[in-house]
Order: sequence, then C-alpha cells, then structure tokens
Amino acid sequence: MNASLAMKDQRSLFHAVTSIADNASAGPFVLTKGKGSIVTDEHGRDYIDMGAGLWCVNIGYGRSEVADAIADATRSLNFQHLFGGAASVPAIELADRLLTLFRTRANAPEMARVFFGSSGSDANDTAYKLVLYYHNLIGKPLKKKVISRQGAYHGLTYAAGSLTGIDAYHKAFDMPAPGVLHVEAPHYYRGARPGESEADFSARLVADLRATIEREGPDTIAAFWAEPVMGTGGVIPPPTGYFEGVQKLLAEHEILFVADEVITGFGRTGSWFGTGHYGLKPDIVNLAKGITSAYLPLSATIISNRIWDVLEHTSATAGAFMHGFTYSGHPVCCAAALAVLDIMEREDIVAPVAAKGERLLAGLRSRLKDHPFVGDIRGVGLMAGVEYMADPAAKRDFAGMAGHKIVAGHARTEGILTRALPWMPVTAFSPPLIISDAELDEALDRYVAAAERAIPALEAMASA
Ligand code: PLP
Repeated sequence: MNASLAMKDQRSLFHAVTSIADNASAGPFVLTKGKGSIVTDEHGRDYIDMGAGLWCVNIGYGRSEVADAIADATRSLNFQHLFGGAASVPAIELADRLLTLFRTRANAPEMARVFFGSSGSDANDTAYKLVLYYHNLIGKPLKKKVISRQGAYHGLTYAAGSLTGIDAYHKAFDMPAPGVLHVEAPHYYRGARPGESEADFSARLVADLRATIEREGPDTIAAFWAEPVMGTGGVIPPPTGYFEGVQKLLAEHEILFVADEVITGFGRTGSWFGTGHYGLKPDIVNLAKGITSAYLPLSATIISNRIWDVLEHTSATAGAFMHGFTYSGHPVCCAAALAVLDIMEREDIVAPVAAKGERLLAGLRSRLKDHPFVGDIRGVGLMAGVEYMADPAAKRDFAGMAGHKIVAGHARTEGILTRALPWMPVTAFSPPLIISDAELDEALDRYVAAAERAIPALEAMASA
C-alpha cells in the first residue's frame, strides 16, 4: 500500500457501501489501470475482473475508441441540458437509437420515449414518479402503492432504496418509504418446499402476490417492480412460469410493470435485453451500467405508449413535465453510449455471451460439485452465482451468512475479483462480456483454488 495515498483516503474519502471501521484498519483497495477483462492495482498486480466493476464494464476496459468519442464530444459541446425543449445532437441520436434497439431486440414495439438520467438509482426514482404521475393523470389518485420483492436491488436513493428489498440498506435510514411493499423473492433453491417443482413454486408465489394485492386492495396498487434476473439479491434467474403468472395477474388489476434492466440490459443474459429474453411486456424499463459500459455515468428510462399517450394527451392541461436533472441527456455521456453501441454492434458482442456463460457455469458446477459448503450454482448468460451453506444437505446457513466472504477474500489473493453479495451468501460472477475462453478458464482455476483454501476456515465457522 502506498502509505500516503492510503492515509489521504482514510482522512478524506467517504466510501460508498463500506464499513468505515474496516476501511480505517484495512485501507482502500486501489486500482490504477484496466485493459479488456484485466485490472491492475497500485502495486502492478493484475486481477481478472469477474465482476466487470459493478456488473457494468461490458465491453471491457481501456477502449480508446470510446475515449476518443468522449474527447471529441467534450471539445465540440461539453454540456447541453434538455430543459424547456433544449437538446443536443448526441441526446437525440441516442434516444432514437435506443428506442429502435429496444423495440427490435427486446421485441417491444410498444415502447414510446426515452428519458435520461445519470444512474440506475435515479432511473428508478424517475420511474417511481412516473407511476404516481400517470395514475394522477388518469384520475386514479388512490393507486399509489408499489410492490417490489425481498432481495431486490434497485439502487439507494430514497425511492429506489425503498424499492430495494435488502434490510442492510434500509436500517437506520428510516426506509422503506410508506407505500412500498416487498413480496417473496423467486429464489427456488431456498424458497421451494420439499418436492415442489419450479412451476409449482412460481404458481405459489403468484398466488401469494394475488393475496397481497387483494389484501391491500387492487385499486391501491400502482405498479410491480422487478429485475428480470435478480442481481445483488443473489443472481436469481426467474423460475419457470414466474413472469408469465405475474404479468397475467398485473394485467387483471391494471397494475403497471416496471422492469429494472440496469444489469440485464445490453447483453448480460445472452440476449440484448432481459425483456426479450424472458418475453416480458413492461410499461417502463430502466437501463444504466452497460448503456455506456461505465465509461461515463448515464441511465435511461424507456416508457411505453400506454404511459406516453396519457402524458401527451393531457399535456396541455397538466402543464410541463416538471422532472429532470441538470445532467439528463448529458451530451458527452450520450456520445460515449453511441460509441459503445457502435462497438457492441460491430463486434457482435452479445452473440457469444450465452456460450461463454455456459462454459463458466459448467466449469463451476463440475469443479465445485464436491465442495462441502457449496449449496447451489446457478446463472444465465454471463451472470453466475455460487451459494454457500454451512450444511448444504440441511440447508443450514453460516452464522451471519458470512461464509462466502471468506472465499471472496481468498479469490482476491488468487488474482480474481468476485463479489460477495449482501443478502444471500453468494459469490457473483459478471465478467466483461468480451472475456476470452482462456481468461474464463484461468478465472475458474483461481476461484476453485480460493474456494478450496477457504475450507478450513469454513469448517471452523460451520461448527462454531
Ligand atoms: N438497479 C439494479 C438492478 C442494479 O443492479 C443497480 C446497481 O447495481 C441499480 C439499479 C442502481 O444503480 P446505480 O448504482 O447506478 O444507482
């Protein structure tokens, strides 16, 4: 550790989602370079980044084409807002391109307009306000409650953080906000009853959702919120029949469906969008992360005709749409997104994702099948999760759900970055989509070595 840098960090930098006590003793983990799927720390040590940052550097690190597009856009017009009908060329071009892309690649011709923000959280806040706004405009002001799911992750601003269904992010912040409900996560491995099939488990969750809607009163429920694949909650792909049942139920009660594609958008599942992958019909879709591959911050909220038509037809009487941010449609961020989309389309980055994901999942399954503390291995596309248990046969958890954190520590020592998730004891893998087979195999070797090195500590923990 560069002592003076560590000291400056500890005396100046307020880290996001970090234990202040741990950072005071361990100090920061500082990266200085990235190329492709490899990042380098301040001591020159390389790691395979099996998290793509935070599920976001999809086209890989260090693309000079994107850097050039950013430099060019900065030189020509470094700022232009979208307030009062103002616009910039990159914002218009990107909105048009995203809409075409989403309509065609997600089989969602009913999508109508794109609203820009800077983060996944603010996209979810925008969608939340749109849900309330829409119901006020159509004369249903009592339809205001929103149903999210336990284990959901939608960000950490006040509305998005309330939609998030993980206690650790709520406690001491007086969250969730009133009117946000959380139903059971579709986590088959944990939630299924003995002998229950995936389809039966899904049907039970849909029946529970129906009971929640009826208990609260269908006329009070405005929207249902879901990530197509739950990410931070534990890498949980939807079980068979889940979204079919949920969507049918929502339609019965005129409840809007908001799909949070902040992780699943732009190729992560092996399809361009989770919406297309799972045949979803959302009224609002949130995108961020992969939209610029995290070269710059940007988010997009895409809304359907169902909502747009109401906004358009009531506009003269409702007045201006009084929501937006200084950086909505920031021209340099939009130019970065356009450059990233050029690369994704030219290099056909999404096409091989399914096969790479299979390689990762098959490798994890075959190499960890005899690990005494691995309970479940699951995933879709280049999203995979390994769930740890103190006693997998009895499905007994480690105290404090902390077993997977030990493995993540060893993984970093082995030269691979993975994420120890905060809700379920799961290691998440979400490498850059351009990762090579050789890098995937090397990452597997390193992860398996880490999981094996962790066994003595896990044994001690399991019997404590
Ligand atoms: N939605 C999902 C599904 C996410 O995974 C995340 C971040 O991980 C967010 C929203 C929040 O995005 P941000 O951290 O950019 O606010």
